[in-house]
Amino acid sequence: MERDGAILWLTGLSGAGKTTISQQLEHKLRERDRPVELLDGDAIRQNLSKGLGFSREDRDTNVRRVGYVANLLSRNGVIVIVSLISPYRSVRDELRATLNNFVEVYINAPLEVCEARDVKGLYAKARSGQIKSFTGIDDPYEAPLSPDITCHTAAETVDESVTKIMTWLESAGY
Ligand code: ADP
Repeated sequence: MERDGAILWLTGLSGAGKTTISQQLEHKLRERDRPVELLDGDAIRQNLSKGLGFSREDRDTNVRRVGYVANLLSRNGVIVIVSLISPYRSVRDELRATLNNFVEVYINAPLEVCEARDVKGLYAKARSGQIKSFTGIDDPYEAPLSPDITCHTAAETVDESVTKIMTWLESAGY
């Protein structure tokens, strides 16, 4: 019998570790022969959501589109890993309420840590005003109130964070 798919929705600040964790997670799931697909925010904005900006409305539209695609895949047994800042609580809660097997994973690192990492140099640009509406700097991030899983990436290794998610999936029967 085909096993249930799931939507692993990784939310968190830029630089918190969403991409790093999702890539390792994808690798681990493939090793176990699970059908898996990764929907990464940066790639999504270059195709599915090309033309959308960073207003609240556009961000929410982006989140709903990704949720729609994730649902098409997960209902066919795919484990979908979504890596998206998705800063607004209400639209995440809307997805949680409407999609089956939606798993909210909070990739949690303090802003200071994310900014010190500045993986893509975006915080420096946001601080100097070259980028506007940057989450954590001049745009809000609303942390999940009751995520299914939280990875504290300033305190855990990547391996520990990935293992935590894998263990959760197993114990939840996925
Ligand atoms: P995001 O996709 O959330 O913007 P990235 O994955 O691109 O973040 O960057 C996160 C950075 O933090 C990487 O350089 C990664 O190596 C580092 N890091 C340190 N500890 C962890 C951890 N436990 N989980 C994920 N990333 C971590």
